[in-house]
Amino acid sequence: MQILSVTPEIYPLIKTGGLADVTGALPLALGASGVKVRTLIPGYSTVLARMETDEPVLHYAALQGGPATVRVAQMAGLELLVLDAPHLFDRVGGPYGDTSGDDWPDNWRRFGALSQVGAEIAGGAIKGYLPDIVHAHDWQSALTPAYMRYGRAPDTPSVMTVHNLAFQGQFGAGIFGSLGLPGEAMSIDGVEYYGGVGYLKAGLQSAWAITTVSPTYAQEIRTPEFGMGLEGLLNLRAADLHGIVNGIDTSVWDPAADPLLPGTYSAKTLKARAVNKRAVEKRFALDDGEGPILCIVSRLTWQKGIDVVVSALDDIVATGARLAILGAGDAGLEAALLAGAAQHRGRVGVVIGYDEALSHMMQGGCDAILVPSRFEPCGLTQLYGLRYGCVPVLARTGGLADTVVDANEAALAAGVATGFLFSPVTTGALMQGIHRAIAAYSRPAIWANLQKQCMKADVSWSRSANRYVDLYKSLLARKNG
Ligand code: ADP
Repeated sequence: MQILSVTPEIYPLIKTGGLADVTGALPLALGASGVKVRTLIPGYSTVLARMETDEPVLHYAALQGGPATVRVAQMAGLELLVLDAPHLFDRVGGPYGDTSGDDWPDNWRRFGALSQVGAEIAGGAIKGYLPDIVHAHDWQSALTPAYMRYGRAPDTPSVMTVHNLAFQGQFGAGIFGSLGLPGEAMSIDGVEYYGGVGYLKAGLQSAWAITTVSPTYAQEIRTPEFGMGLEGLLNLRAADLHGIVNGIDTSVWDPAADPLLPGTYSAKTLKARAVNKRAVEKRFALDDGEGPILCIVSRLTWQKGIDVVVSALDDIVATGARLAILGAGDAGLEAALLAGAAQHRGRVGVVIGYDEALSHMMQGGCDAILVPSRFEPCGLTQLYGLRYGCVPVLARTGGLADTVVDANEAALAAGVATGFLFSPVTTGALMQGIHRAIAAYSRPAIWANLQKQCMKADVSWSRSANRYVDLYKSLLARKNG
């Protein structure tokens, strides 16, 4: 089975969040089941600079305002198709915006082009390559199923995966004429959305199947509270909507062999985490001491509940725990956290920025990871926490609720507990979760058991990859039946 994956991010080439981890790890997991994945990604300058091979397989004299070439490349076990279109992707800044964080004004054109090329490859544009199924990820590739449906490859099954419904790619109606879609596509059951063009909406409407990254989030997005305006459409398509929880790449995230850790360890050598804890203390200028270190590795946004953490800082410090925070995002939240760190010197440490290596050290050295998200499609940091024995303290929502078993008395007694869930996302509930975690930490035998239970949890891709294989097979059966 041949799958064409279309995505704006893929680890280890280009990552701003969990999407990249998923699109980077899933092909490897599917490969083990005999499914071959090729991934179409934009040729950002950083990506082109790291390409291993460079064989052009498709050329456009004019694609959205300039010439473009699709090149084959391999990296880290991944088969890539890179869309080299300098007028769209050769820029200084991030994949979606400039260095000051403002979105590129022509994102509709950049990702419209990516989607169009994906659909044309689905239709056989590359000689000798015809994927059986196309798998699109998030709004940036969500026009792919629409282009396929409106002529490029109507008989090829497509899957639209939503990693976060909050990002929808909505643009004015004026762009429609430049997309090269037939006029009939500008309708309520096509790409039209509240008078404009909705990329994610178009993908949800056009794809043969829709998936999101946890069963609970798949239910939540059918309600007005979480549906972000798309709940009506998602309810109409409920029969084709599946929730498949993410796994993690357990070779990249392996505490027993992680080159980014000062000290490696296993569930049998938990005491060896101490050297990592010392390293975290040093890096975050925290006092040394016996108490727990809680950590956060996150985009600093309202979604992630970081404002609630800001209002809880005094209470957290009052428990005697220390707090290490790594993240970047809203300027106001960054400033508030830095002010909190200045006020609670030695007790709260904040590093603003994106630092993959440091995130490993924190999972390997801190005692608990806080994820107080208001909504969370799947969440990955709690999965890394499980794998590293950094016990998760989580809001009971979306994938967070699906991946951790709350350490209530019964679960502790049965030996199945893996973390602490709280709700709603308020300072009071967060503090309750933290208090429960700290109480468990003060009982070393219970805490060690909890850590071991965490590290035993199956967070690998194997089970979820099989669910994608089953879905792909069912779509091929639908096509052929
Ligand atoms: P989202 O995709 O919504 O940001 P996820 O929990 O699904 O949230 O994935 C976040 C990913 O990005 C994880 O791999 C996490 O470790 C990583 N990450 C987030 N912020 C940082 C940061 N400041 N430095 C390093 N890694 C980060």
